[in-house]
Amino acid sequence: MANFVPNAGERRTRSRPILGCIADDFTGATDLASQLVSAGMRTLQTIGIPETPLEAGVDAVVVALKSRTIPAKNAIEQSIQALDWLREQGCEQFYFKYCSTFDSTPAGNIGPVTEALMDALGTDFTVACPALPANRRSVFNGYLFANGVPLNESGMQDHPLTPMTDANLVRVLGAQTTRKVGLIDYATLRQGDAAVAARIDALKAEGIGIAICDAIDNDDLFILARACRDLPLVTAGSGLALGLPANVTERLDHQQDAARLDSIGGREAVLSGSCSRATLAQIEHARQHMPSVHLDAQALDDDYQGVVDAALEHAEAHFDSQNAAGPILIFASASPEEVRRAQHRLGVQQAGELVERAMAEIASELVGRLGVRRLLVAGGETSGAVVSALDVQGLRIGDSIDPGVPWTATLGTQEPLALALKSGNFGAPDFMTKAWKLMP
Ligand code: ADP
Repeated sequence: MANFVPNAGERRTRSRPILGCIADDFTGATDLASQLVSAGMRTLQTIGIPETPLEAGVDAVVVALKSRTIPAKNAIEQSIQALDWLREQGCEQFYFKYCSTFDSTPAGNIGPVTEALMDALGTDFTVACPALPANRRSVFNGYLFANGVPLNESGMQDHPLTPMTDANLVRVLGAQTTRKVGLIDYATLRQGDAAVAARIDALKAEGIGIAICDAIDNDDLFILARACRDLPLVTAGSGLALGLPANVTERLDHQQDAARLDSIGGREAVLSGSCSRATLAQIEHARQHMPSVHLDAQALDDDYQGVVDAALEHAEAHFDSQNAAGPILIFASASPEEVRRAQHRLGVQQAGELVERAMAEIASELVGRLGVRRLLVAGGETSGAVVSALDVQGLRIGDSIDPGVPWTATLGTQEPLALALKSGNFGAPDFMTKAWKLMP
């Protein structure tokens, strides 16, 4: 695997990372990384656990795993490997990042991974706080609310992999761990970080190992972050990341340009395999501003290579045309009815994999043969497929286009690429057109 090569300016300013993060899924990792950047930490995201040391000068590293729904034993193994690597790079405090809807089952993986990380770090206490006020996730008296309703009424009770049928996180986490789970409640939190620190001492004296923490707005997360200053491990959604950099401000030499990326020139493309409502609206908008090609899932099944080649010819013709400026959009995204028809004919899994394979192949050709250097990808799974086809090892995180979706610069690829990876429901309707104006 390629080393993580720093930007030219970083070689002079190399410093060891302070915060080491382990995220249980890919787009969640990017969300966390962009929160850290916005709070002033130069941040690098790795795709999986690197095999070589970190060379770039950054303040935080986020290792993106895909461990949310794999067997707990494997999630522990990967998380511990990630922790070992982060410790070798010199990180001092560690952050286990999970979803703000606490996606897990009684078998894990939030509890088992937290416990394993505590054991590895030799610590007997940590916090658990999925609150993310910007996305309307709040915790009160230990109950998690999503969009103003208890978690188990928010739609998450029907999640195909991690149905959340109880909003009481003390109970939910208690079922996943052998450690005693307690609560740092809102009344304590509002008294400030000294009161929270005192509460932590009291909980520890009672033998509590993990405390669910209430938080309703960002101020609460700032208070909590201050109180967590000396904990070796915190566990949270991405919200707590807003407050942690303030604990080490005096050591952040590059706060003003934490999001600075070297500019990357080249042709532009949008690839979309997301069928989420937000993405469909963005495609509707984008098609009025750029040429587009639709990949039909059933046509792919009939004549895979023919459909892929036709899309690439379309792209080549666009780039070669005299007045070609700006991106081309290639999308498989379709309405729920169309998706159901394709799934009915091909099978749910097969339809998804077929489209992901096509997107991955198209991405490789766009970059390898057609000179695309700036790429926007819509869809979590789709992003995963594209990133592995392009052999991306890591991402330097830049400014956000919309909350949770930053421009990034790839590490490990032959030439750096500008990539923006959008999880389905993120982004405003004009996301695919405005993104280009916000490039570094
Ligand atoms: P999101 O972030 O919106 O969930 P993902 O990329 O994670 O997007 O998931 C969308 C899934 O739907 C992918 O597996 C993709 O390959 C699949 N898909 C995309 N277009 C179609 C289609 N027209 N028919 C069936 N499946 C599709």
